[in-house]
Amino acid sequence: MDLKGKKVLVVGLGKSGLAAALFLRRRGAHVTVSDVRSAEALAHEIPALIEEGISVEAGGHGLLTFRRQDLIVVSPGVPVDTPELVQVRSFGLPVIGELELAARFLKGKVMAITGSNGKTTTTTLAGEILKESGLNTLVGGNIGVPVISLTDESKDDTWSVLEVSSFQLETTREFHPQIAVILNITPDHLDRHGTFENYAMAKERIFAEQTAADFLVLNADNPRTAEAAPRAKSQAYWFSIYHTVPQGAWVEHGPDGSQVMFRGSEDGVPEAILPVHAIPLKGAHNVENVLAAVCAARLAGCPAAQVRAAVEKFKAVEHRLEFVANFNGVEFYNDSKATNVDATEKAIAAFPSGIHLILGGKDKNSDYSTLAPLLRERVKAVYTIGSAAAKIEQHLRGVVPIHSCQTLENAVKTAAAAVHPGDIVLLAPACSSFDQFENYEHRGRVFKELVHEAGFNICQHA
Ligand code: ADP
Repeated sequence: MDLKGKKVLVVGLGKSGLAAALFLRRRGAHVTVSDVRSAEALAHEIPALIEEGISVEAGGHGLLTFRRQDLIVVSPGVPVDTPELVQVRSFGLPVIGELELAARFLKGKVMAITGSNGKTTTTTLAGEILKESGLNTLVGGNIGVPVISLTDESKDDTWSVLEVSSFQLETTREFHPQIAVILNITPDHLDRHGTFENYAMAKERIFAEQTAADFLVLNADNPRTAEAAPRAKSQAYWFSIYHTVPQGAWVEHGPDGSQVMFRGSEDGVPEAILPVHAIPLKGAHNVENVLAAVCAARLAGCPAAQVRAAVEKFKAVEHRLEFVANFNGVEFYNDSKATNVDATEKAIAAFPSGIHLILGGKDKNSDYSTLAPLLRERVKAVYTIGSAAAKIEQHLRGVVPIHSCQTLENAVKTAAAAVHPGDIVLLAPACSSFDQFENYEHRGRVFKELVHEAGFNICQHA
């Protein structure tokens, strides 16, 4: 792809939009950036762009700006049905995302990981395993490092391990990972994708360009994921926490405990990789993530011993069922990244009983009533916060005691006053954070601070 002298518009000035604009400029393109946010809101980014000779349009998109281009690069945060984009597409102008642009310049091989939940955990772990195996490894994508920023560093023998979201996959064309992983497909982002099927089809784009020489790793236990297999041209590998799979990774239960197993082909010999108890992460969902990473890493050629060593050393990524503190026998966990109902279900399932659960934030058109059976079984009380509170209370009325707390601060205080030794206080809110916080990281950090303040009181009253 020759960018020299091309007119390129970058729509959306997030982290990846900014990196894409600078990359395009360095390759000789005439770059314009357009964002709906005001010039004041972009005050931090604009000077660096102007200095590089990039034009900036803030406070909205002008239709003419769109029409005058050779190529349009959209950020994942910009909906594909934005009217300006629909119109330029109808004129035949190519509209791609930063992932697609980057993939055209990335050297070496790509392992791409998608799913509704577990992407960051699995991508991080797979990256660690490849590094432990001595492979030249880069990690990026939706995980906070734009793929475009890896392109200069990548070499012919590099493995780029990429977390890819449905928003990024919506605008791919030639993106072609040698190993693709779909961890699970459960309802999420329905506010943006409209229907579950649209969302699932965006995820399936991860293997759209794969060939028979490539590998596709699928979750045998997740119905919508397993259903995708017949549409792929690549070789399907599976992972399951419940049963043996023809080829892939699974958990085998034996007299000496449970083992993570891998088999490289249908007639291959099963290998024991590591005992399940050696996985230093909480919850069955994390065993799924380990199986997926083990399978993908073995397919990339990592030796079993290095796979095992990297898994044993791995620590939970911050805000993902992260242990915060134990005060007088009460444990506090921060799962602020549980921004959908499935992730919250998995977090609850990681503890047998005695849970005080903080739920709420900004609703994503979710159905919270599916939590009811697990709540009855394991949760002592729910503490609601944020703008989704009324809907959550309506969906869960009569299931367990619910305290309307409005704020996270109030929720932590109320929960801390109700706990007994052996209980768990869990922030796994099933909602996004944007009504009361900058993002889920901000929410998680505030939670941890509040826990340490509350802990002081718990210990004093013990
Ligand atoms: P993603 O990058 O897909 O959002 P993360 O690894 O950041 O995934 O985890 C997001 C949330 O989902 C966290 O609350 C985490 O505890 C939970 N989670 C992690 N892995 C899984 C899984 N395989 N299935 C369901 N929930 C998961």
